[in-house]
Amino acid sequence: MSEPDLRDLPPLLRVGIKGRCPHCGEGALFKGFLALEQRCEACGLDYGFADSADGPAAFIMMIAGAVVLGSALITDAYYEPPLLVLAAIFLPLMLIVSLGLMRPAKGLLIASQYRNKAAQIINPD
Ligand SMILES: [Zn+2]
Repeated sequence: MSEPDLRDLPPLLRVGIKGRCPHCGEGALFKGFLALEQRCEACGLDYGFADSADGPAAFIMMIAGAVVLGSALITDAYYEPPLLVLAAIFLPLMLIVSLGLMRPAKGLLIASQYRNKAAQIINPD
């Protein structure tokens, strides 16, 4: 596969959040919730380069933690509900926000990895 021209690539945010191939924007990136396809069904791009590791989880912990925990603290400060009410509202919310962001974040990081040609440096020694 030849070197892609950045002007011909689909917008990073669109393909990343939708979970599409970072090269053509058409083929699916995921075959399960977070499992990747082997290659793009539309253009044949091998997804072997894609390894987002813990990146999406780290971003989601910071974003969901700030939003949900901040909301819980504000709710507690203004309404002073019992602890069980807070837990019943915000623990499921934390789960929903975290799982909801996981796939778009992984797609976005893999698209960014492809766009920036990020790869692990392997020492030949
Ligand atoms: Zn493709």
